[in-house]
Amino acid sequence: MLGKTCPHCKERVKKDAFVCRYCGRELEPNNEHKHNLYYPNWIFAGFAGLTAGAALALIFGYWKERRRWEEDITDYSAGEEFDNEEF
Ligand SMILES: [Zn+2]
Repeated sequence: MLGKTCPHCKERVKKDAFVCRYCGRELEPNNEHKHNLYYPNWIFAGFAGLTAGAALALIFGYWKERRRWEEDITDYSAGEEFDNEEF
């Protein structure tokens, strides 16, 4: 790709042009490179957030499941004790 699109008039201009030859406005040189440099930070931040969120969800889910499981065991043992008393 030897050209880029002018953000002001959407015409194709040369890649390293500083001024658009169609509308005469200034173009940011090597804009794509700047964006490429910023992307990894955002991806890393997104991944870190996702990982932290997933870990928290996992821990919370496990804790909730364990509490329910413990409650079930308590209910079962209580029921067993009740049944034993009846027999
Ligand atoms: Zn232009």
